[in-house]
Amino acid sequence: MADRSAKFNILKLVKILSFSLLFVVLVCFVAAIVRTLTFDVNAGLQLAHWEKTNNIASDINQHQRKELLENFRVFPTVFSSHLVQHEVVANYSHLFWVPGSDLALVPYMLLAHIDVVPADESDGWEAPPFSAKEIDGFIYGRGTIDNKQSVMGILQALEYLLIRGYSPRRGFFIGLGHDEEVSGFQGAMNIVKVLKKKGVQLVFVLDEGLAVLDGVISGLQGPAALIGVTEKGQATVKLSVFKAPGHSSMPPRESSIGILAGAVKRLEDNPMPMLFGGGPDRRTFEHLAHKFGLPLKFVMSNMWLFSSLIGRVLERRPDTNAFVRTTTAVTMFNSGVKVNVLPSLAEAYVNMRIHPAQSLQEVLEFIQSTVGDERVKMELVNGFDPLPVSSYDETSFGFQTIKKTVLDQFPQVTVAPGICIGNTDSRHYTDLAKDIYRFAPTWIRPGDTQRFHGIDERISKKNYEELVIFYFNLIQNCDIKELPSPHSAGHEL
Ligand SMILES: [Zn+2]
Repeated sequence: MADRSAKFNILKLVKILSFSLLFVVLVCFVAAIVRTLTFDVNAGLQLAHWEKTNNIASDINQHQRKELLENFRVFPTVFSSHLVQHEVVANYSHLFWVPGSDLALVPYMLLAHIDVVPADESDGWEAPPFSAKEIDGFIYGRGTIDNKQSVMGILQALEYLLIRGYSPRRGFFIGLGHDEEVSGFQGAMNIVKVLKKKGVQLVFVLDEGLAVLDGVISGLQGPAALIGVTEKGQATVKLSVFKAPGHSSMPPRESSIGILAGAVKRLEDNPMPMLFGGGPDRRTFEHLAHKFGLPLKFVMSNMWLFSSLIGRVLERRPDTNAFVRTTTAVTMFNSGVKVNVLPSLAEAYVNMRIHPAQSLQEVLEFIQSTVGDERVKMELVNGFDPLPVSSYDETSFGFQTIKKTVLDQFPQVTVAPGICIGNTDSRHYTDLAKDIYRFAPTWIRPGDTQRFHGIDERISKKNYEELVIFYFNLIQNCDIKELPSPHSAGHEL
């Protein structure tokens, strides 16, 4: 009797549990469906009333279009205007200051870099890499998308604004570094020094970084403008093993090379933890969610449910894996001088790009414990933490002003915050500005990412013109005193 009632109770319990589980699943499913249908974090301030400041139209006529390319490096008005103060910093870098009429408005700063990585025609370029030759509407040349397009775009925009009688209400700086590709220790760092001496604080900084991706994110309808709100940190660690040298005829059981090789293998077998979902990476997908078709729209509108699943998908490819974790790359391995001599020293260099959700210290501890061998000495060659995450909500002056400028010019684009996996000059500016953004409206289509630091780097003439117009409008849009209130969005009848 007692046995039967116990059985009955267990059955009842199982029933109740299954029904509750079913109920929870059903509620989650309904919530996810509702969210899929209504979720759009992107509309925001676009519906609000913006203070009108953009008085000078940005049209470029046929004559100017020709001039735009011919005058590539000539900006006579910028360099002769009494409005513009210019100084050369660290011999080759340039700092411009254009004061505003309203001293109460905190200035902002536009950055770009004039140096480029090397290029060799013999690598197979369609046009000589320093010729700026035009083929089928594209200007070919090293630096055309990294980062001459911004250097020229900013200066040309300012040139046009000055010619058309513009004088800003909000002052701004322009910083053109000359050694970004080798970390900006001369250019950017000295520009920052000059500004610090003057006690400058900036409302935001805009540097190179992310771009407009068109047809690059599979499944996304229309192009996406990703504005970098943080960048990964970096660390280079040297691993070394010392052993007494000896003759190869009497080898010990383990050589310095063998011990170090084991350590390197352990690092490759044990990647850093997958960190997708905790920061701006998640927001990138949420901002883009409404531009995906089903079922991706369902998944991306419900990151609370699916972020680890998406992370697992992203980590499968090296280019997307870089977004979900700190990457570990063994880049140098040196040992041995002669075929019959056991080397006393074996060395390897490991380069890591640190995810914004991790710190340099945590990464070093991870390396140490994964290597797990006291005979392997570890030394930090250089490194820095990931950059702080800049604001991108509806009260964020820089983000919203950049976003508005992009959407006014390219209404078909979806704007989202993103993570820069490379580093820029702007990382030296953290003491001057809380909000640093990395973006230019350079259009990147399938196949273009290989052109960065690769062969056949190019920009279309049309896109160069668009960059000029972008900076032309952005400078004027920054003249608003403050952002419109998000609540003004619903007041229009
Ligand atoms: Zn660059």
